[in-house]
This record gives sequence, structure tokens and C-alpha cells, in this order.
Amino acid sequence: MDYYIEPIAKLINELSKLPGVGNKTAQRLAFYIVNMSDDEAKELSKSIVEVKGKIKYCSVCGNITDTDPCNICSNTNRDVSTICVVKDAKDVIAMERTRDFHGVYHVLNGTISPMEGIGPDDIRIKELLMRVQDEDINEVILATNPDVEGEATAVYISKLLKPLGIKTTRIAHGIPVGGDLEYADEVTLSKALEGRREM
Ligand SMILES: [Zn+2]
Repeated sequence: MDYYIEPIAKLINELSKLPGVGNKTAQRLAFYIVNMSDDEAKELSKSIVEVKGKIKYCSVCGNITDTDPCNICSNTNRDVSTICVVKDAKDVIAMERTRDFHGVYHVLNGTISPMEGIGPDDIRIKELLMRVQDEDINEVILATNPDVEGEATAVYISKLLKPLGIKTTRIAHGIPVGGDLEYADEVTLSKALEGRREM
């Protein structure tokens, strides 16, 4: 980093913190930004500031949104008695792309991971329990990723929901084990939803 003048070194450092961006890519992006027009650079920085200022979490489902409740929770055509539980906002997008799910979501904002020190209290499980107790829920579909953390989280939640008499299902394993919902194609995810089994 010593070769770079300070403002560029700082930009490279910030960019390299982004997921999937290594040092080489960060350098390339930094030089791309250096060569942008002032207007383009302003638009880019403005959109970053705006996204932080305008985006909030839906008070019902926890999804990211610019209105509260989000447009899924406030859509009267959705079946509010079926809740699909997912790890994060990206998974909501993945499920929505299938066009097969007409219920509502509950975004956990993470999964239980003892390795990373993330326990049940660190993700939105309490909020889910409150929801199923307050609302008339027919089914909770656990659509966390089919990896170790996703499975552990699904089992944990199903054990809490069972005594409440709520039908709890787990999406089928059309998705490769260790895979990520976000990267599953629509057909695979659609099939996984269709083949869900009761827990
Ligand atoms: Zn919502």
C-alpha cells in the first residue's frame, strides 16, 4: 500500500472490505473511480449515503425496506397465515423470484453459529415466537440454508414451535447441502419449497 498516495490507499482499503473484493479488485475499482467524472463519483457516493439513510427494517418481518411495514407485509393479497423463515434479506429476494410463495416472511438476520459466537438470542427468534403467538398462523416454513448452521437453526426453531401446535415444515433438499439459497436457481428453490416436509 506504500506506493499509493493517501486518498487512494484509503479508498482501496475501504473497497477491499466489501465481500468478494480482494486487494487486486479493490485497486482496479479505485482507479476506475479516480477516472470517473465528478458527477458520476458524486452519484455513487450519494447512493451509498442514501441507502443507509432510507433503508430500514420492517417492524413485522425484519426485511429491509423503505416503508414500514414492507411492501410484502402490507400486501393484502399475501397469505399472512404462512410464514417463511429465512436467514437474510437476500433470501427473501431468492424466494420471491420463484413466484411460488404467496405467504409472508420472517427474516432472522443470521443463523445460530456457535463457531462465530452467534446464539439464538442474537437472531430474530424471539420476534418469530411473538408473531406466531399474536397472529393466526397455519404454517411456518423453515427455509434456512441446508448447511450446518441453517439446519441447527431450523431444528432449534421447530422445537420451540412444536409445543405451540404450529405446523412447522422444512424445505426439501433440492438445494445442495452446504449450498446457499441465494445462489439456487428458481426451479430448484421452487421444488425445494414444494417438497417441504413437516418437522
Ligand atoms: Zn415486512
